[in-house]
Amino acid sequence: MKSELAEMPMVDQRTARDETGKPERMPHELVPHLRETAILLDIDGTLLELMPTPREVWVPPGLSETLTLLTERTSGALAMVSGRSLNDIDLIFAPDLFRAVAGHGAEMRLSVGNEADAVHAPPMDKELKRRLAAVAKLSPGILLEDKGYSLALHYRLAPQAEQAIYEAVSLIRADLPNAPIEVLPGKFVCEIKHSGFTKATGVRELMKHEPFRGRRPIFIGDDVTDETVFAIMPDMNGLSFSVGRRAVGVDGHFDAPSDVRAFLARLLDDTRLE
Ligand SMILES: [Mg+2]
Repeated sequence: MKSELAEMPMVDQRTARDETGKPERMPHELVPHLRETAILLDIDGTLLELMPTPREVWVPPGLSETLTLLTERTSGALAMVSGRSLNDIDLIFAPDLFRAVAGHGAEMRLSVGNEADAVHAPPMDKELKRRLAAVAKLSPGILLEDKGYSLALHYRLAPQAEQAIYEAVSLIRADLPNAPIEVLPGKFVCEIKHSGFTKATGVRELMKHEPFRGRRPIFIGDDVTDETVFAIMPDMNGLSFSVGRRAVGVDGHFDAPSDVRAFLARLLDDTRLE
């Protein structure tokens, strides 16, 4: 499993036509009234540009205000859906707090006054963490991120190490065949998490609760782990949009996070949705 796989399910579709050859409709034209909508957003590569290391992400001016206003206009039905922990999400957007499915579905926060309303995984086993952490020593430039419920090996600064990383992780897994873990390939990141929950299981659970229940979800994401959520949107009469490339099965796509931010700001301005 390599990061090229992250590209595979996507189709480059710069001409933006749907399956019938008709020009793709603009995302904002598809969005129902905000009173009936739940807005679900991946963070890295979707709301924010990917950076060489995850600590360097930057929230552009105006984004927090847009997100806060959309939260108000949807009566609270806006949530982050991220591989990051709740704690990390809060640090990025401080002082603003948002509802969230975090840690790839390991944590869920339904109310911004709460730490977490549901936690679905124990922190990763220490010995397993120690062994996976040793993989970071394969090459300078491999960055280990302990996300609590998962470990991420980032190699954006050492792309030549990709194969060695995945081979080393495979060896560790072969040694521990009963460990309840899975490997998630992403964009220059190899992430190891507990199995048994995903962004999709987290979104399904979130959508059972107020203020999300009964609304039409709109999900925007950019990476392999977001495909689990793209896949369940039709079950909820939802809409999905990919970022970077048009993913299979989505209702539309954005070229870059800046386009996602412009789309969100436009939802606020769109009198049709008031
Ligand atoms: Mg992402």
